[in-house]
Amino acid sequence: MSLKTPREYVDSLKDGRVTFWDGEKIDDITASPKFTTPIAVAAADYDHPSPERTEVMTYVTETGERAHRVFQIPRNEDDLIKRVRMMEEMSIVGGVTGVMMALMSVKDDVAQVNPQYAANIERLYHHVRDNDLRAAEVITDPKGDRSRRAHEQDDPDLYVRIVRRTDEGIVVRGAKLHISAASLVHELVVMPTKGMRQDETDYAVSFSVPVGTPGVKIINRSFATSQLNEFDYPASAHHSMPEGFVVFDDVLVPWDRVFLAGETQLASRLAQSLGLWERTGGLVAAVAESKMFVGLAALVSEMQGKDRDAHVQSTLAELICYAQMLKMSLDYACANFETATGGMVYPNSLAVNAAKYYYASNYHTAVKYLQDLSGGLVVTLPTESDLRNPESGQYIRKYLRTKSTVDVESRMRVYNLIRDITADALGGWRLVVALQAGGGLAAQRTMMNRIYDVAGAKAMALAAAGVK
Ligand SMILES: Cc1cc2nc3c(=O)[nH]c(=O)nc-3n(C[C@H](O)[C@H](O)[C@H](O)COP(=O)(O)OP(=O)(O)OC[C@H]3O[C@@H](n4cnc5c(N)ncnc54)[C@H](O)[C@@H]3O)c2cc1C
Repeated sequence: MSLKTPREYVDSLKDGRVTFWDGEKIDDITASPKFTTPIAVAAADYDHPSPERTEVMTYVTETGERAHRVFQIPRNEDDLIKRVRMMEEMSIVGGVTGVMMALMSVKDDVAQVNPQYAANIERLYHHVRDNDLRAAEVITDPKGDRSRRAHEQDDPDLYVRIVRRTDEGIVVRGAKLHISAASLVHELVVMPTKGMRQDETDYAVSFSVPVGTPGVKIINRSFATSQLNEFDYPASAHHSMPEGFVVFDDVLVPWDRVFLAGETQLASRLAQSLGLWERTGGLVAAVAESKMFVGLAALVSEMQGKDRDAHVQSTLAELICYAQMLKMSLDYACANFETATGGMVYPNSLAVNAAKYYYASNYHTAVKYLQDLSGGLVVTLPTESDLRNPESGQYIRKYLRTKSTVDVESRMRVYNLIRDITADALGGWRLVVALQAGGGLAAQRTMMNRIYDVAGAKAMALAAAGVK
């Protein structure tokens, strides 16, 4: 077992993976300027320069060695809290590697149906953990005409499916869309996007393959396709990460990498378990993001001398309420954890689904509040190059002055961050991410209806109404 260094991570990406970006087929992503920032973001998760950082990002395994904490199977609330702490520090590449928790939490249920599949999950877990690899959550199918089931589509490949079974393994065909960081990980962990019926056995399929496997092709898309300067783009210059449109063009998956091949009764179990861990990741990010909104709203108002205004105070209170509700939900979800067969614990499903829903359905309103307090400079602020040009810069410094305690460059940086995360390419991306990543609003509504104690609520209402 060994923790990789950032350099070893970068070298590990030279594995013949087939990726495309903006019309270009990229043979070696480590040599492509488009991938410079995403690779730096992912490599930073491998950097543990201080004992404090090592403590946050790694743990001691059952054999006494250090592994990345993303692989620690939580057994109690303290483990969940440490996991949240790690997630706050980690990039999305580490975040999606949480897919291993989803797999491990269903392993014992899978064993009831096919012990071999469960052994395959266990083997993959050790392989990924012991080699400090990263894995993507590969679940969302293109889905074609949503009114028809997987096997009823005009093209049978619109959901990933098994096209052949051989002595060596299964041959799969199809695509999975919107896969975060697909080109930056080592393993693609594939699961069904939803429950499958008995006549959809070829679509009830789950497996993992290395990204460089023949037949795997990834088409990338990101909010930032080039290196951006950090003054004008304080967030996206450092955090850009592509999503992958992942194609499985008749990919042979060896039997020892298969977790499901036709057992339809397990399809929704796998999908739901991934949904929970995806939404937990989204919630951790939402807690940080909503706190940032409060900070930006307070700063921008203070810098314009409006912070004591009643309207500013009440808008700020709305943002504080949003941030605090999310923080309390995350704390509640960890404190009221649930336990899977086998003893692994996971955050409270109802709390995670309700919080992800609350976050997503109020996110656009939170953006509105922040932009309302900020004014038009959010989108019209001149760029750094005009500030640095002495001829234009003198006017920018003169007319963006508010008061002696406010430095013009600092004010510009605050505005740039607000624009970058709410009103520019990354900002638009985040509006959609809040709604869709981890499943759209409908997915959380379905889960809340399923988990909440509706029977208990009805009994309470009947008793209150005096109905026997
Ligand atoms: C930036 C980003 C990153 C993502 N990362 C990943 C990832 O790493 N891995 C991954 O697997 N997926 C990922 N996703 C995919 C995400 O989970 C889906 O976008 C989401 O589940 C919605 O599916 P869809 O995009 O196919 O939308 P569609 O199915 O086209 O849905 C559009 C709308 O149709 C309605 N609808 C859909 N399904 C239902 C339903 N069951 N009941 C009622 N109404 C419904 C809803 O209004 C829904 O919002 C990511 C998405 C984004 C935007």
